[in-house]
Amino acid sequence: MVTANQLISKRLNNVKQFIVFIIGIAIIISLNKLIILLELPRSLISILFWVILACIPFLDRPVVFGLLFFKSMFSILTILSSPHPNPNGLYANCYNLVGTIVFAEVMYRTIKGLRDLNNQLTEESEKANAASKAKANFLANMSHEIRTPISGIRGISEMMCEVENRSSTDKEHLAMIKSSSDILLHVVNDILNFSRIESGKESISPEICDSADLFKQVIEPIKSNYLHSSVELKLEVSPSLPKIIECDKTKIAQILTNLISNAMKFTDQGEVIVYATIENDATLQISVTDTGIGIKESDQALIFSEFERVHTSYEKSREGTGLGLAITKRLVEQLNGTLSVKSTFGSGSTFTALIPVVPMDEAADMNLHFENKVLEEKVAPCSINNCVLLAEDNKVNQVYIKHFLEKNGYDITIVENGVEAVSHFSENDYSAILMDIQMPLKSGVQATEEIRDLEIEKSLQKTPILALTASVTEEEQRTFLKAGMNEVIPKPIDIELLMNSLTHHINN
Ligand code: ADP
Repeated sequence: MVTANQLISKRLNNVKQFIVFIIGIAIIISLNKLIILLELPRSLISILFWVILACIPFLDRPVVFGLLFFKSMFSILTILSSPHPNPNGLYANCYNLVGTIVFAEVMYRTIKGLRDLNNQLTEESEKANAASKAKANFLANMSHEIRTPISGIRGISEMMCEVENRSSTDKEHLAMIKSSSDILLHVVNDILNFSRIESGKESISPEICDSADLFKQVIEPIKSNYLHSSVELKLEVSPSLPKIIECDKTKIAQILTNLISNAMKFTDQGEVIVYATIENDATLQISVTDTGIGIKESDQALIFSEFERVHTSYEKSREGTGLGLAITKRLVEQLNGTLSVKSTFGSGSTFTALIPVVPMDEAADMNLHFENKVLEEKVAPCSINNCVLLAEDNKVNQVYIKHFLEKNGYDITIVENGVEAVSHFSENDYSAILMDIQMPLKSGVQATEEIRDLEIEKSLQKTPILALTASVTEEEQRTFLKAGMNEVIPKPIDIELLMNSLTHHINN
């Protein structure tokens, strides 16, 4: 259907072409007169054919043909009206007319072909962009839908493992369920992260951070996963690395996690050394060296492409999606850095990321900061008030969060939506609130904003609010923190992380 705008622009174009036609005729007549007046060679007028042809990309077909026809007719009439008409001149004009019209038609068809192709490509690329956007939105929605049931499976199997009189076979089976859901979660996270990067939705968010904390927060959880491994994970930090730097902490943490996890996965014995230093005062160099199985030279360029796995024929314990390095490389490049690998097949590999950062102060002694504080913080909950409000509509999540909170000495009140969360908060005292984000009637974000308003209205102290969410993108996390939440706990919930965070917020 033709829209009003398209109709108006078509009319305007017709008027424009008509004006050009009139101007063209005026030029042809004036040039003729000028040639006669100045007694210039008549062949000069042939130049007009070429000028008209050169305008083909900008003029409509009737205008060009009209001008060519008029030009030839005008020349023919001029010759005929002369006292001694030159027959050669007449023939030349007729040939010129036929020749240029054929040429113009060929040019039109070629240009039309190119224009059609261009329009088709633009249309296809618009369609592809729309499809990619739809895919990103679909995956963003799926992110919540997939992570929530995985969260339930992990939580309940963890909870069931703890029942005392359970047989060892049952425990073994439950542990298998948990480890399978961990693998599934890893795969889902890789696919979601990759599609977010591909859709261009990822933005860079520099923040000022403690370089020691950054490394600690990444390495400690990996270390605890490999407690019984014969591979030692070591951190070596150059004394020149500044304590405070400005960088995109979340992305650097993800880069580090991927490189270290791979190094641990592909190493059976020996060590994995993470080395961090600053180069040229503003480039963070992170090298992860392992004594693992190494990568053949011919495979080294392949491993950064998506879904490429060059050790597929090895053991099952080295499962993966082949997306980790593709994600890592894109993240490094987004931060204007580079990622490279040096490896000897059979002996080990070193992955090096060079990432520009802004150093904020002089170097610090990292060892002072590199203590396992997070785990030490696990102390008994606040004895004065240990009531926690859990706002969560998912029954499975309610059951296992309640189980673990009560086990750690908390009194727990469960509400199923944001409206109830606000009304319970206004009538009771809680030491902390665990707030799901997607809830019926009122979302966790809205409920938090209302609770923060109530606190200001009644001059109350801020109650810690921890978001529980399966939506873990950076933008979403920023929205939750902006709404007044103190921390975002991703689903599936890591119970140890939840307990540490609760203790930390209640006691501070
Ligand atoms: P995944 O680990 O999920 O298979 P990655 O994209 O992280 O996917 O890695 C791609 C491939 O690169 C791996 O399958 C493996 O063959 C190889 N690779 C990555 N890191 C190492 C490493 N440290 N040592 C040996 N091979 C590695």
